Amino acid sequence: MTASRARMPVVFFGHGSPMNTLEQNRYTAAWRRLGESVPKPKAILAVSAHWTTRGTAVTAMERPRTIHDFGGFPKELFEVQYPASGDPQLAERVRALLAPVAVHPDRSWGLDHGTWSVLAHAYPKADVPVVQLSIDRTQPPRFHYELAASLAPLRDEGVLILGSGNVVHNLGLIQWTEDAPPYDWAVRFNEKLRGYLLAREHEPLINFEALGEDARLSVPTPEHYLPLLYVIAQQGRDEIVSFPVDGIEHGSIGMLTAVIGLEAG
Ligand code: ZN
Repeated sequence: MTASRARMPVVFFGHGSPMNTLEQNRYTAAWRRLGESVPKPKAILAVSAHWTTRGTAVTAMERPRTIHDFGGFPKELFEVQYPASGDPQLAERVRALLAPVAVHPDRSWGLDHGTWSVLAHAYPKADVPVVQLSIDRTQPPRFHYELAASLAPLRDEGVLILGSGNVVHNLGLIQWTEDAPPYDWAVRFNEKLRGYLLAREHEPLINFEALGEDARLSVPTPEHYLPLLYVIAQQGRDEIVSFPVDGIEHGSIGMLTAVIGLEAG
């Protein structure tokens, strides 16, 4: 039925502050252009840094709620709704593809800000159904990469797989001034990752903990990094990676967005 459909690209979004939802800046402009340049998906499967669980789960409800999973932001941000529908059939398809790993059909989560802060720009009409896949926090990086590889057939079924996190994410060392220069270790780690992504060297990206002190400072906890592994696991032998936007905000938040399999132009 969908065999003639072109293979969908795969996107890693560096989401940064939830305030990006309400702002117009060079990141949100890039996300918007991306949404316009990717063939319109039948559905979206999102892996967000903000949904980690014991075991793996997939949202299986018809109407996922908009979750405001943060504190200390203006009221306007708590009023944001992203009313995309769910896709219980896609949730079932994901469960089948990931078997024998047991994936729990979840009916209590919804869409968290890792997903809707970027989709509010990429798909502002919220007219594409969205399913979230959780990150099993008990598992090592390689588990996520290998699990994600089983999702590859979805790309030929019109599903846009996206990861949302930040490749550099150190809240403990964040600088709240607007124009804080990036830390040297953040710049080095980000550059190293870009090099591996361009060279399609997945092994050091999976085994990022071996990259030393720069990695330890850039990825003090893994949840914002792991969505990248779900994205690179989809990369075919001859598929290129491009970076629609990059930058390091507040010293320690890497905003790199990476796309696999999108022809330039
Ligand atoms: Zn986040």
